[in-house]
Amino acid sequence: MSDDYRARALQYLNDARTEMDSGEPKRLPFAALRLRMALEALTYERAHVYREWLAPEQCEAWQPKRVMETLLAIDPNADKGGTLAIGLEEVYGESAKEMTQVGTEHVLSLSTIKQHYDALGSFLHMPTIKQLRKSAGQDMEKLRRRCNEVAEAIQKVLSSSIFNMTASFTVDFDCDRCRVRNARRVPWASYHFETWCSACRAPYVIAGTMEGGTVTPQAKSWSCCTEGCKGRAPLWPDEVKQGATWQCPECGVGHVLKLVCRPARTEPAT
Ligand SMILES: [Zn+2]
Ligand SMILES: [Zn+2]
Repeated sequence: MSDDYRARALQYLNDARTEMDSGEPKRLPFAALRLRMALEALTYERAHVYREWLAPEQCEAWQPKRVMETLLAIDPNADKGGTLAIGLEEVYGESAKEMTQVGTEHVLSLSTIKQHYDALGSFLHMPTIKQLRKSAGQDMEKLRRRCNEVAEAIQKVLSSSIFNMTASFTVDFDCDRCRVRNARRVPWASYHFETWCSACRAPYVIAGTMEGGTVTPQAKSWSCCTEGCKGRAPLWPDEVKQGATWQCPECGVGHVLKLVCRPARTEPAT
């Protein structure tokens, strides 16, 4: 299945090059469409590597940017490539003196997707009245430059000598809000990244090293308003809104959140 995406990406790239090489400006939008499809195919191929960690509804996302952001919440290195090398440890636990390179993988990065995917799409629509008034039409030379840039980025990914590699281990945690178990891939090094629960999107920060780490819920703790009560209750960022209610776990008193607008303090003029 994943091989299929890669083969499709190559086919789309070749199709795009045929359109670009024709030298006809009116065929460039067809190249842009094929390049967008190649970007999609390479992103879906990467998602296939992480299929075990994706919730069913996360598999429904199709925009490459959203798909890659989801993958990065599972593994902070999901959009980074690497070189694989092997060697014999003469002493167990000590790095091998001689390493043999197996290959290098180039992965389509989130920044490349952000830089080009929507920009290519803007050439696939009829220019608006405002755009037509501002200029004679779409800048085909600009589109040609962008198509060349994207084709090079796709070619680099496809030229990888190895692919679909991940170098990480799994960290599990139960969501504090919905109790669903989440699994994340973390690198064999120090790590620090933001993620969210696959079921309820409660945010977390995962940080640590190979020796151990922490999973910190990004809920804010609110103090009970009852005199003398030290009870506190957590509210997640998406719950902090006008009229939100919570009950003190100590005294049981219900609270309603009231957001008040105050003018920003300004320093007196000197
Ligand atoms: Zn949850
Ligand atoms: Zn209380």
